[in-house]
Amino acid sequence: MHKVTSEELFQRALKVTPGGVHSPVRSFKGLDRAPVFFKQAEGAFLTSVEDKRYIDFCQSFGPLILGHRDPEVAEEVHRMVDTAWTFGATEIYSLELAEWISTTLPFMEKLRFVSSGTEAVMSALRVARAATGRGKVLKFEGCYHGHVDNLLVKAGSGLAGAAASSSAGISAELAALTLVTPLDDEEKLAEVFQTHGKDISAVIIEPLPANYGLLVQRPEFLKKVAELCEKNGSLLIFDEVISGFRVGLGGMVEKTGIRPDLVTYGKIIGGGFPVGCYGGKAEYMNMVAPSGDVYQAGTLSANPIGMRAGLTTLKKMQRLDGWNVLEKRTARFAETLRAGFAKKGLPLKIEQTASLFWIHGNTTSTIRTIEAIPKDQSATFKKLFLKALDKGVYLAPNAYEVGFVSMAHSDELLAEAAQIIIDSAE
Ligand SMILES: *Cc1c(COP(=O)(O)O)cnc(C)c1O
Repeated sequence: MHKVTSEELFQRALKVTPGGVHSPVRSFKGLDRAPVFFKQAEGAFLTSVEDKRYIDFCQSFGPLILGHRDPEVAEEVHRMVDTAWTFGATEIYSLELAEWISTTLPFMEKLRFVSSGTEAVMSALRVARAATGRGKVLKFEGCYHGHVDNLLVKAGSGLAGAAASSSAGISAELAALTLVTPLDDEEKLAEVFQTHGKDISAVIIEPLPANYGLLVQRPEFLKKVAELCEKNGSLLIFDEVISGFRVGLGGMVEKTGIRPDLVTYGKIIGGGFPVGCYGGKAEYMNMVAPSGDVYQAGTLSANPIGMRAGLTTLKKMQRLDGWNVLEKRTARFAETLRAGFAKKGLPLKIEQTASLFWIHGNTTSTIRTIEAIPKDQSATFKKLFLKALDKGVYLAPNAYEVGFVSMAHSDELLAEAAQIIIDSAE
């Protein structure tokens, strides 16, 4: 009996959807291989249509901090499916998650749930424009904030490493409202504020940039960003869609001690279901309709299944001291990789923060800007990725995407995966 293959499915997919995928980075572009089609997931594992099992370090690009189909989350999800799918009306499920977040993270005085990180960012920027009466936004090279029109300028994620780093279909008028400056450069930042300070509604930053490799910032740089926002009356927006509930319960707000005006979340907050969130100071959030006149709405916003999955995930992480456990496990994993690469005499380095890691070939310095990423990053990654894939390790299929370790990745499994990655490196 003929078993369907990923290659055949990809040929079919190419006929009905652009590039055969519903989000660009899934396509294995530049990797000279059809993407693997999966049919099942459990814990740290994915199973392909060919019945091959992979250790998964993509974890749906971040939401699954407990791993795939965590039993406790699954139970809550099943219960919710048997209770209601969506109300389009007020209900208790989003109230419980909102109260939990606001109580646990006091800087989230008020918040609003949406259905994706992109929506959260788009809405936070609208609030910032309304609050300041200004039109411009300042972002940083290599930071990704979803596919919000005017933020697709020098962005990361699926755009990282692309020849043209912005998207077609963005009007020049809109793009002109976005100012871009490099990360890790206080001087250039001060210059932008000098020239445009009075027009900048908000500065948006990934406080731990993790969509163009892992570009860990110096605390002084982040403090400077906050200081210049304050001085110029621009709102500071921390985009914590990837770092929120990943680097710790309080995300980078807690780690840096910086208090942003607004924060955006996504990924982990929905426990694997489509949920985004923006919130922060009540004086700004009160501007959102219906209490204020900044319009923002959503048919499926605060979907109860996502609310339940999110709350169960966060409470379980808290109960297990999960962030601490993961940080230590991932550090050991990174250390094994480091030692393995060194033993083989390979010029590979690994950046690691909490349960995020990124392999690259710059051995001279800590990479804080996209300029410091080696030019052959994609070529280096491709060889490693394909070999590891054949041996049963699924890394996010792009040289600029980080890896995610979940609570389902045991020390034993991580040791096994590290050996595979070391064996695959050359
Ligand atoms: C993933 C991500 C987004 C976009 O979220 P979506 O849910 O994919 O729309 C925005 N900002 C950051 C920092 C992200 O990592």
